[in-house]
Amino acid sequence: MASLSKDSSILIIGGGTWGCSTALHLARRGYKNVTLLEAHPIPSPISAGNDVNKIMEEGEPSQDDTEEQYLWNRMHQITTKYWKDDDVFKAFYHPTGIIFSAISDDVYEHIKGYTKGTESEWISLESPEDFKKTMPEGVLQGDFPDWRGFWKDHGAGWVFARGAMMSAYEEASRLGVRFITGPSSGKVTSLIHSDNKDTIAGAQTADGISHRADQTILCAGANSDLLFDFEQQIRPTAWTLAHVPLSVEEAAIFKGLPVLYNPERGFSVEPDAEKRELKVCDEHPGYINMVNIATPGYNEGTMHSQPFARHQIPVESETRVRKFLQEAMPQIADRDFSFARICWDADTMDRQFLIDRPKGKDGLVVAAGGSGMGFMMMPVVGQLIVDRLEGVIEERLQNGLRWRPEQAVGRDWQAIQDRHGGEGKIMDFHDVKGWTSGHMNKVQL
Ligand SMILES: Cc1cc2nc3c(=O)[nH]c(=O)nc-3n(C[C@H](O)[C@H](O)[C@H](O)COP(=O)(O)OP(=O)(O)OC[C@H]3O[C@@H](n4cnc5c(N)ncnc54)[C@H](O)[C@@H]3O)c2cc1C
Repeated sequence: MASLSKDSSILIIGGGTWGCSTALHLARRGYKNVTLLEAHPIPSPISAGNDVNKIMEEGEPSQDDTEEQYLWNRMHQITTKYWKDDDVFKAFYHPTGIIFSAISDDVYEHIKGYTKGTESEWISLESPEDFKKTMPEGVLQGDFPDWRGFWKDHGAGWVFARGAMMSAYEEASRLGVRFITGPSSGKVTSLIHSDNKDTIAGAQTADGISHRADQTILCAGANSDLLFDFEQQIRPTAWTLAHVPLSVEEAAIFKGLPVLYNPERGFSVEPDAEKRELKVCDEHPGYINMVNIATPGYNEGTMHSQPFARHQIPVESETRVRKFLQEAMPQIADRDFSFARICWDADTMDRQFLIDRPKGKDGLVVAAGGSGMGFMMMPVVGQLIVDRLEGVIEERLQNGLRWRPEQAVGRDWQAIQDRHGGEGKIMDFHDVKGWTSGHMNKVQL
């Protein structure tokens, strides 16, 4: 393996959430020859992070953590520091609080377990009136049928996702990272393998140019396994989001809202102040798109999930969004959406991230598997990717984030992986009967 120096050529594939953060961390550590390839102008319309907001929770490890809990809590601890103190990130974190709620007994017990150890910080919500008191008068007008939950007004909230991604991108550019973007010069069509196949030596783009590099970092989100064989460790899975427009008067009271999260119904976050739009996601185990098209990881005839872009959502998803609103904010439940899209992420088997050098391949670090939780970790993930590249990552973190194909042997693509909502099962886009229409932003994908 070529030794790593500050002059080594380093190629990042994917300028989304994790790619922009990686570019920033590499530049801050003094790497002088860093190039990032991104298939779209940044912010990419297909990046999961190109969004008005994402939920952020603070955290820290404790003495009695299991290895799994330690991994998650340690990443929380580091990411929290970035969101609070780092000039690139701190303007984008809004710690407005969070409400975890549920309908069924088992999901209620699950979220109650989540508050274990910090019970004194949470206020129990047992009635519609309890829920209404968590936000300014007039926001929550619903009956909250059978909802119960817990609320805390600190230690969590939301981040302005697109803003944070652009901030990392701009600072990385300023520090000298070269960004090559667009469907021809920035879109990677294949990785460059050495003759004996044991080394990755860069990537080829759609314009036919070979970008040779000492080290390649693959972080193309849900599209990563179109370029490299992940041995079934990642499953591209999509979720759905819609924006509901608000009047000037409504926007004036929908301010500083805690995140309202119900894993059986959906969630909403404080509206985007500029556009006056409330983002709502319906909750469900996810959509896949099973195809048998050949990729580096799948022979023709082998079924696997493959992402595609669409700035619309299935009508069944619209129905779920409206049900969430009907129960919590009925006054805006019937309004036309101003925007909607499907949004892809990649699920690992255990929903822990995958950041490692794959066995038997020199010159490559893969970073994928956001598993629906990869935005709040954006600042720390970039750090960990560079730590892994340099071989200095904390041992317990490296172990949790390791290349682990043994977990994916015979993987069940239908596994719901501890998620709730919808029909309680993974859905395939091939079974969708209709899509929302009208009032959508026209975006060329
Ligand atoms: C609906 C939804 C809600 C979510 N909510 C939250 C939340 O509240 N909190 C949270 O922490 N996380 C949340 N997440 C998860 C989080 O958004 C993702 O885990 C995270 O954004 C993944 O980052 P990424 O860099 O792996 O992928 P992305 O941000 O998708 O970036 C991948 C990039 O690779 C580019 N690319 C793809 N193929 C190529 C190619 N061939 N050549 C060049 N470039 C390419 C894409 O254009 C894209 O810019 C949510 C995800 C979804 C889908």
